[in-house]
Amino acid sequence: MNCLFCRILQGEIPAKPVFSDELCFAFADIQPQAPTHILLIPRRHIDSLVQATAEDADLLGHLLATAAQIARQLQLDHGGYRVVLNTGDDGGQTVHHLHLHLLGGRSLAWPPG
Ligand code: 5GP
Ligand code: ZN
Repeated sequence: MNCLFCRILQGEIPAKPVFSDELCFAFADIQPQAPTHILLIPRRHIDSLVQATAEDADLLGHLLATAAQIARQLQLDHGGYRVVLNTGDDGGQTVHHLHLHLLGGRSLAWPPG
């Protein structure tokens, strides 16, 4: 298996866990871009949002709801936060296992580069 995030799910590569359930896993980004920078991934490998279909709607909804739950637990909901889903080369995706970035703890600039 040569997918980095699948290897993290298998425990082959260490990661700092933040949340785990039967459908998804969240861990700290190795190169944080904000005081809080968490990656949330589905346990089932999906390359990117490009490959997602209507059959993945429940899973995608679960990921979004879980990101909000983690943000609440970390008390990011008061000041706000950003959820990012980089998709494909032009979207800046470097790891080809669908993942949500949860960024918070500082005021984030917009638009992105
Ligand atoms: P992308 O650029 O694909 O949207 O995001 C990939 C993210 O994965 C980047 O923010 C990068 O810092 C993070 N990342 C890359 N390799 C590792 C790793 O081995 N462990 C962890 N925890 N994060 C990683
Ligand atoms: Zn994978």
